[in-house]
Amino acid sequence: MSARTQTLEPVATPPSRGGRRPVLEIKDLHVSYGYGEDPVQALRGVDLTLHEGEVLGLAGESGCGKSTLVYAATRLLPPPGLITAGEVLFHGADGPVDILRMPEPALRASRWQDTAIVFQGAMNSLNPVHRVGRQIMDVIQAHRPRSTRAERLDRARELMEMVGIAADRVSAYPHQLSGGMRQRVMIAMALALEPRVLIMDEPTTALDVVMQRQIVEQIVDLRDRLGFSVVFITHDVSLLVEIADRIAIMYAGEIVEEATADEVYRRPRHPYSHGLLSSFPALRGPKRPLTGIPGSPPDLRALPSGCPFRDRCAFAFDACAVVRPELGPPAVPGDGPERSVACLRHDAAAVAAAGLEPQPVPEELAVR
Ligand code: ADP
Ligand code: MG
Repeated sequence: MSARTQTLEPVATPPSRGGRRPVLEIKDLHVSYGYGEDPVQALRGVDLTLHEGEVLGLAGESGCGKSTLVYAATRLLPPPGLITAGEVLFHGADGPVDILRMPEPALRASRWQDTAIVFQGAMNSLNPVHRVGRQIMDVIQAHRPRSTRAERLDRARELMEMVGIAADRVSAYPHQLSGGMRQRVMIAMALALEPRVLIMDEPTTALDVVMQRQIVEQIVDLRDRLGFSVVFITHDVSLLVEIADRIAIMYAGEIVEEATADEVYRRPRHPYSHGLLSSFPALRGPKRPLTGIPGSPPDLRALPSGCPFRDRCAFAFDACAVVRPELGPPAVPGDGPERSVACLRHDAAAVAAAGLEPQPVPEELAVR
């Protein structure tokens, strides 16, 4: 151990609340939109693992590929989206299966039962002419055709109560419920078949802050009781810090940093994570000035060489124009083992391999 590392105190890695058994493993996923000369390269080699019982937060500015990632991983990607490479392993009772290569009937059975999604803007997708209870019952009937109407109604009432709505509101029409209640109905519907994985794409973005909070707390509470795993997508990192066990930060179709929520929040290593955290008011912990990130994400049809974030990055140096950063352990001593970052300030070996001069980790990216 060098003299330098001996003088540093060890950083405690908070234990993840989730278990360590993988339930969903996304491997080297590539997605593009459109054909021809320059398709939009919306995902460029994403690796991400969701563990049993954990809440995994996915954050990044609009257009970074968050929705594309979860749609592709569940094979719900609408055209012209095209999965060009990768695998998505769901670890079921009979071992892992690749969702991307599952036959259509198996896939249909697996939806809602294994993995349920609450889509972005879902609360406006309830059918306005049917009572909400009936809409929940329809989901149950599609997968449990032998259930009786009374059983389905009981379950719908139970689900409504589970998400904090009085059971007798099963007879309400969507327009008779507030936005927050409609969003809760969507969550109830997603939980109807007790899925192992609940994916939520910006479920609270359209709601006011108080309502957002209540819903988020409810999801975590249900996770604690029922033990499912959650992928929670939002552009608001400070909300994720409150609820997630782990956070993955996306930029331009790639994961650029991944660590426990606490580590990402208190010690962001990637300049982009830094920028994201300074774009939202902190709910707890150290106050940061709200500076935001200058500029906007790159055109995914014509990505620059090297690091896609370099044009907006205050810490870019000459290597960033030529070497593409790979996700790996950061250069700061004491970081937890599960932490990874894609930034050349943290990867002296990649810079040296390109024959260039590595640069030190700036103080801001080495917060301890
Ligand atoms: P996020 O959910 O993070 O806001 P998306 O996954 O919706 O991002 O989009 C990722 C990228 O893919 C964006 O650059 C977006 O413009 C592009 N994209 C999404 N849908 C389409 C589409 N139907 N056709 C072409 N490009 C698309
Ligand atoms: Mg989206």
